[in-house]
Amino acid sequence: MTILNADLHCHSTVSDGTLAPEALAERAKANGVELWALTDHDEVGGQHRAAQAARALGLPYLSGVEISVTFAGLTVHIVGLGVDPDDPQLVQGLAHTRGGRERRAREMAQQLAAVGIRGAFEGALKYVGNPELISRTHFARYLVEAGVCHDTHEVFRRFLTEGKPGYVEHRWATLGDAVRWITQAGGIAVIAHPARYAHPNPTQEYALFAEFAAHGGRAVEVVTGSHSSAEAVRYADMALEFGLAASRGSDFHSPDESHTDLGALPYLDGRLTPVWELLAHRILH
Ligand code: AMP
Ligand code: MN
Ligand code: MN
Ligand code: MN
Repeated sequence: MTILNADLHCHSTVSDGTLAPEALAERAKANGVELWALTDHDEVGGQHRAAQAARALGLPYLSGVEISVTFAGLTVHIVGLGVDPDDPQLVQGLAHTRGGRERRAREMAQQLAAVGIRGAFEGALKYVGNPELISRTHFARYLVEAGVCHDTHEVFRRFLTEGKPGYVEHRWATLGDAVRWITQAGGIAVIAHPARYAHPNPTQEYALFAEFAAHGGRAVEVVTGSHSSAEAVRYADMALEFGLAASRGSDFHSPDESHTDLGALPYLDGRLTPVWELLAHRILH
């Protein structure tokens, strides 16, 4: 059923969101979400809490994760839905992926200090809920607090992105590893927000889709908080061209920062196969 208010992408304090898993579950329920997944970056530490909170609210739940991948020099995000959060290979792969974040954060702080912004490492840490998951989002919140920028979007425009102070190149998981960890843990791999990647040419985007499918990836986010309606049409066509199922998720991080609230998204195009039809056996009630 394509007409389902599924929201299969959001973040809690276990990664770079500002709400706890329980508060997200309540917000999803209140907003009319009918199927929910928490997809923290490189971390499944919030999955049991999210599933339990959803169950108490009568909200059907799919376990989830969003894995950081380096593909052809770009950072790409791969969402995993319906994974067993206790799968040892997945847990180990994610721990390895998180590994370099603290060292990267210290280098980011050094670069920021060089342009006159002091104490950014300690400042970002104040916003971190999970010590293994310091992200650029936490730096962005500190730079707003310090009065350097008005909001986190301005921070990413002026800092923390390629070519700007505070950007440190980082090697994440490989595409093949991320898809395999998800698939072997019983889940389905999904290309997250495909319009957000600065592929140097269309061929590289086709290569991402083709290699993803060759590794066993089966779905793509078509409707997300970071796609325009034109982008949703473009990726609906790509889903059909590559034989991929379609996902839908807000990528909600915070009531103060996110443009799209939980569940507040257009429905999937009726031509598409919703990813939740492939995951009926993994839904927790
Ligand atoms: P990291 O995994 O540490 O590289 O941080 C990536 C996170 O930064 C993303 O998941 C978003 O939450 C956030 N982010 C990246 N780019 C932007 C942007 N332009 N505006 C706001 N948040 C962003
Ligand atoms: Mn994020
Ligand atoms: Mn993402
Ligand atoms: Mn996300």
